[in-house]
Amino acid sequence: MEQLNLFEYSQKQLDMCAEIMDMDPGVHAILRVPMQELHISIPVKMDDGKIKVFQGFRVQYNNAKGPTKGGIRFHPEETVDTVRALSAWMTWKCALLDLPLGGAKGGVICNPKEMSKRELELLCRGYAYRVSSVVGPDKDIPAPDVYTTPQMMAWMMDEYSKTAGTHQFGVITGKPLSVGGSAGRGDATARGGMITIREAAKELGIDLGKATFAVQGYGNAGSFAAHLARSMFGSKVVAITDSKGGIFNAGGFDTEAVSEHKAKTGSVIGFPGSTPISNEDILELDVDILVPAALENVITEKNAGKVRAKIVAELANGPTAPDADEILHKNGVHVIPDFLCNAGGVTVSYFEMVQNFYMYYWDEEQVHDRLDKKITPAYHSVLETSKKYNINMRVAAYVVAIERVVEAMSDRGWV
Ligand code: GLU
Repeated sequence: MEQLNLFEYSQKQLDMCAEIMDMDPGVHAILRVPMQELHISIPVKMDDGKIKVFQGFRVQYNNAKGPTKGGIRFHPEETVDTVRALSAWMTWKCALLDLPLGGAKGGVICNPKEMSKRELELLCRGYAYRVSSVVGPDKDIPAPDVYTTPQMMAWMMDEYSKTAGTHQFGVITGKPLSVGGSAGRGDATARGGMITIREAAKELGIDLGKATFAVQGYGNAGSFAAHLARSMFGSKVVAITDSKGGIFNAGGFDTEAVSEHKAKTGSVIGFPGSTPISNEDILELDVDILVPAALENVITEKNAGKVRAKIVAELANGPTAPDADEILHKNGVHVIPDFLCNAGGVTVSYFEMVQNFYMYYWDEEQVHDRLDKKITPAYHSVLETSKKYNINMRVAAYVVAIERVVEAMSDRGWV
């Protein structure tokens, strides 16, 4: 197969579903491309006194169901096509969770690991300023994503508020608690994924108390997933990788200690009592649950046949290539597709928006409870659709989500 970029992946997934659903060609044409996108240049005076111009994007894919929503990624290899694909997945994610929101995504080509705090603040403020005409609490609401943090969200909120001349806490989610953040937002992506794993394990008859996990990626999603696998289920986390490499221990890791090691040394590598494992080999481990929680395109047609896990829980966006999906399905691997598995983040972001509008805040227990009540039915609607039409879980998730977006487009008189 020729190498497709991520946007072509997402279009290919949509095309496959359009065929199965016998979709109207006009509707298909609307859903294949973003509604609107903004390309910006952000000049930043760097610490050495020289000006560097960064390129950024905000892509709004579809707003039939409400204001658009989606994170902002800071990554050296960011491209507009990646952002387009991710904005499409946000559209399906919000619809699948039955949130009154459309989908969007943002990105800046930069390497935050090589920038000072001051440079990052200027970049965040520059981004917020330049997208201020297209975002807003009832228009488009950004959030954190790969390599962006609550602190960065606070800077962007502050800059937008200054531009607007009023407090606008609701313009962005994933903020620190002191400026309108929600309890439970920090581990929400991982917690949502754990809820889907809990339901999948019930369906497959897996005892999670005896289960083993392998986690690829140890950022926000991956590290919380590893902690929660132990604290929620008593499962063993036997393998962990980050962008530099990985560690294995058949007896399972004390994941809090691994986090401390990473905070000190910059990587999980070299954790006492572990043997090294690569980012490729972790995908082929004989574990019950494999959690790709890093970047896109890691399970491809080349290695899909070697995946031995019973459940692949996609906490990352787009970890599985379209041709790999069918191989996993044929081999009986239960895939919890990304825009279901990682929807906990945007769900609690939506709760954050609601709390910002009301100016009244919930405690963590309320957030956890409400999250469960959103994710559990979403998982079961996908599972039932997959069984009813004998289609894989990803196609089933698309069918449920697309039907909701199309219903909104039709009720609004767009089609
Ligand atoms: N970046 C997260 C995602 O991909 C969260 C988006 C949000 O909270 O709006 O779902």
